[in-house]
Amino acid sequence: MYPAPFRYHRANSVDEAISLLSDLGDGARALAGGQTLLIWMKLRFDEPSDLVDLGRIPELSYMDHDDAEVRIGALTTHGRIAASPIAARIPIVRDCANGIADYQVRNRGTIGGSVAAGDPACDWPALLHTLDAEILCKGPNGERSIDIKDFIEDLYATALEDAEIVTGIRFKMPAANSAGAYVGFKRCAPAYPTATAGVQLTLTDGDICEDVRIALGSAGLTPIHAIDAEAELRGKPLSEKNIEQAAEAAVAACDPVDDQRGSPAFKRSVLRVLVKRAVGIAVRRCGGESVESSHEYY
Ligand SMILES: Cc1cc2nc3c(=O)[nH]c(=O)nc-3n(C[C@H](O)[C@H](O)[C@H](O)COP(=O)(O)OP(=O)(O)OC[C@H]3O[C@@H](n4cnc5c(N)ncnc54)[C@H](O)[C@@H]3O)c2cc1C
Repeated sequence: MYPAPFRYHRANSVDEAISLLSDLGDGARALAGGQTLLIWMKLRFDEPSDLVDLGRIPELSYMDHDDAEVRIGALTTHGRIAASPIAARIPIVRDCANGIADYQVRNRGTIGGSVAAGDPACDWPALLHTLDAEILCKGPNGERSIDIKDFIEDLYATALEDAEIVTGIRFKMPAANSAGAYVGFKRCAPAYPTATAGVQLTLTDGDICEDVRIALGSAGLTPIHAIDAEAELRGKPLSEKNIEQAAEAAVAACDPVDDQRGSPAFKRSVLRVLVKRAVGIAVRRCGGESVESSHEYY
C-alpha cells in the first residue's frame, strides 16, 4: 500500500516546527520515527496533506538525569533509551525499552511519538504512569507540562492542542528503596503486546508496601492506572493474599477489546498473571537483586 500524496517539510528547530504546523493547519502532522504514522498513512487511516519532520531537531534528542530527576527528549529512540545509563539505573525503563518490537523499530521509533500516538498498545504511556511522569509540550501558546494521567484522553486522542508538540518526558528518580518491573505478553517481537503490566513499588521494613503504582497496557482504550489495585497493597505486607487481591482489582479495572491478539477473557487472564509477575520481580529488585526480565512470546 502506498500513502496518499503529501508534502514534506523539514524543521530545524522546535519553534520552526510549531510555526510550520500552525501555518499548514489541520492536515499537517509531526513526523518523528515514522514507525506508527507511516503505517497509518499506508493503510489510509490517516491522509495528512503535509508532514513536518522533527527528526533533525537536535534540541529534542537528549537524555539527562541526576539523583532527583530524569529528563528524556521526545526524539530519543527506544533503542538509545534501552542502552542508556538511565535504563541501567532504573530497571523498569530497561524492561520497557527492550520490550518494544525489534531492533529496526527500536532504532527508529521515539518515546515522544509513542506517547503522542495515543495508541493503547504502545508501551511507554503505560510505563510512564508507574513513574508519575510529566509530558513536556510546546505550542503556539508556549510551554506546558501535562501529567501523563491527563495526557492520553481517549483512543488515539491526547491533550495536545493544534500545532503543539511533545518536547520531552520528565519524572522523579525513584528512591533507593523503590524498584519496578514492566512485563508483557506478545505473539512475537515485531508484534504489539497482547497485554502489559507495570508495577513500581516502594518498600519499607522488609516487605511493607509504602507506596505503589500499577498500570496496564493494551487493557482498554487508554492505559489503565489501576488505583484500586494499588489500594490493595499500599501500607500492607506483600503477602500472597494481598498480591492476589491486587491482581483481581487490576483485572476488574481493565476493559480489553476483542481483536486479533485475543478475546477480552483471554487478555484478563493474561493480565492477572502479569500483575503478579511484575510485583514479584519488583520485590526482588527492591531487595537489591539483579533480575533480567523481558516480554514473553507465545
Ligand atoms: C512492526 C512494529 C511493531 C511495533 N511494536 C511495538 C511494541 O511492541 N510496543 C510499542 O510501544 N510500540 C510498538 N511499535 C510502535 C513504535 O514504538 C513507534 O515508534 C511509536 O509508537 C511511535 O513513535 P515514532 O517516533 O515512530 O512516531 P511517528 O510514527 O513518527 O508518529 C506517531 C504519531 O505521533 C505524532 N508525533 C510524533 N512525534 C511527536 C511529537 N514529538 N510531538 C507531537 N506529535 C508527535 C505523529 O504526528 C503521529 O501522529 C511498533 C511499530 C512497528 C512498525
